[in-house]
Amino acid sequence: MNTVRCVRCRTEGAALKSNPFRAGTALVSLGEELRSSVCVDCYNAWLKSSVKIINDGKLDLREARAQHVWVSQMRAFLNLGGTSDPWLRFVDRRVRIETTSKVVTTAMLLRADDEKLWLADFNGGAIPSGFAPTQTGADGASGSASILRDCVLTIEEGAE
Ligand SMILES: [Zn+2]
Repeated sequence: MNTVRCVRCRTEGAALKSNPFRAGTALVSLGEELRSSVCVDCYNAWLKSSVKIINDGKLDLREARAQHVWVSQMRAFLNLGGTSDPWLRFVDRRVRIETTSKVVTTAMLLRADDEKLWLADFNGGAIPSGFAPTQTGADGASGSASILRDCVLTIEEGAE
């Protein structure tokens, strides 16, 4: 069994058995980087998180922009470096967010791109003012919403 010193969990673990990306695609070199940097457990944790990011953020991976977002979030999640966006490290975590109109809330950060943030599970259930609903639960609670980056004053890892 090949092992790797994992950059995410910082322990020695099993390496990926093969390149997860198809030969001849643009992602092959990323696949090799994964095999030499990340353990199987952490990669599987990313895949699990990734499904949520794709579904909640409605990412269509056939689109280049969506692929770029997906790869950026993978790099941030797996601690691979190479991302210049400090907010990406909050993806899939609960954050405390303050908007320029002084609304303060906590929510799960689903996804972030150059323009917007997508959040869900807002504190108290309702989507606060200043956030554009993208999906609403049957009971009107636990919907998801987006907000422009320009409207965000601060974001930090937040307690429940
Ligand atoms: Zn690991």
